[in-house]
Amino acid sequence: MDFIDPLSIWDAVIAFLSTKLKKEDVDLWFTDVKLISLENNILKISVPNKFFQEWIETNCSLLFQNYFYSNFGIDIKIKYEINTKKLEDVLSLEYENFSEKNYKKYKKKPAFSFNDQYTFQSFVIGKMNNFAYAVSEAVAKDPGNCYNPLFIYGGAGLGKTHLLHAIGNYILGDNPGSNILYTTAEKFMNELVSSLKNNQNLEFKQKYRNVDVLLVDDVQFLSGKESTQEAFFHTFNELHEKKKQIVLSSDVIPKKIPDLAERLCSRFEWGVVAEVKSPDYETRLAILEKKASLLIKNKKIPKDVFEYIANKIKANIRRLEGSLNRILAYSKVSKKDIDINLAKIVLSDVETEILPSQMINIKDIQEIVAKFYNIRVDDMLSKKRSANIAQPRQVAIYIAREMLINMSITEIGRNFGGRDHTTVMHAYKKISEKIKKDPYFNSYVNKIISKIRENS
Ligand code: ADP
Ligand code: MG
Repeated sequence: MDFIDPLSIWDAVIAFLSTKLKKEDVDLWFTDVKLISLENNILKISVPNKFFQEWIETNCSLLFQNYFYSNFGIDIKIKYEINTKKLEDVLSLEYENFSEKNYKKYKKKPAFSFNDQYTFQSFVIGKMNNFAYAVSEAVAKDPGNCYNPLFIYGGAGLGKTHLLHAIGNYILGDNPGSNILYTTAEKFMNELVSSLKNNQNLEFKQKYRNVDVLLVDDVQFLSGKESTQEAFFHTFNELHEKKKQIVLSSDVIPKKIPDLAERLCSRFEWGVVAEVKSPDYETRLAILEKKASLLIKNKKIPKDVFEYIANKIKANIRRLEGSLNRILAYSKVSKKDIDINLAKIVLSDVETEILPSQMINIKDIQEIVAKFYNIRVDDMLSKKRSANIAQPRQVAIYIAREMLINMSITEIGRNFGGRDHTTVMHAYKKISEKIKKDPYFNSYVNKIISKIRENS
């Protein structure tokens, strides 16, 4: 390898990064980063503190490697040198020294403005989100006093951000003077880093310390970001001790966020953890009808159009809405009325979704439940009514209804030895109630469900 003058290539490297990253990111993360040397295929760079290292590692390692490989044919390793005082000094000490008097000096920032479309009224409730809805409403009505923190999790487009905003909107409506802060974990990190960089750490802390309610969206982003986790840990403790409400959202439960410090994970579980799931068919229809009524006042959309969309899109409410919007827009532009034919044309490129749960089959559910209870599937489907058979049967019906969201109640009954609608509903209700009352039973049923998921 020829000698490469590190100084002369650094500008080229930055120019290359600028073509791959957002300009704000390059400005934020690279103005204070310097190249120290490039020897023996080791690229040594100096960074202001550990945050920079973590961010660059996650976002740029591959870019660096590609750049050096394609321009110089070398396979580099990156080493970081941290050039400021110890991070812990910056993070925690000032928390202690930060007196009430000190932060009152700072003037209050104007309240965060929430999306006024995202309210409790505009949120459609179904089986998949009624618990998350109920706890969010409880928190909004009495922040800091019932569930702290509230942790909402679930897949993309299922209403987590909507609920966070609904909580914010509600509290502001009750008490316009309250200081509510909505942020994302990513924004939290970016603000933290730029505050460290500009010596505005005090302002940063003041901002988070001063709030009555802190809403943090997408905390799964904290995964692997040790230093940000540390700062967040301090913020969390401080607010929690002062009984300030904290609401968090994530795409998975705390335990499943990879590389999340144990102490943060356990704190995330202190209050209540609520899931939002994919909506069932009826709820998808209700959501579409509600959105349509908010979007167009004078026109009526035929029911089969809603049904058509609800049959196609299953797992993501954002996409459900998007499909409706496309149809409305197309009708407006083409000046054609909305009907099923128009819907079919507009959504012709949208594939009908198959949910993972549709691959689970009712036979698997029956077999696994029977195995757990050590009974025979034949007995489960028979007319026998002894308790040792009836309960597993009801559990299997409950699970079938929960997991097979596209199977109708009648069809479930048919698959359980020709039982009728009321029997299925009765079993479902009975088991749901028992689950609510009896935590052991609840975890037993969850165990069965995980087993079924594993098998599918
Ligand atoms: P997430 O944050 O979980 O990815 P969002 O909260 O951004 O999802 O929701 C995506 C879209 O779906 C938003 O426009 C939201 O208003 C809508 N939405 C989600 N859940 C519901 C619901 N239960 N009722 C009405 N609209 C919903
Ligand atoms: Mg969101």
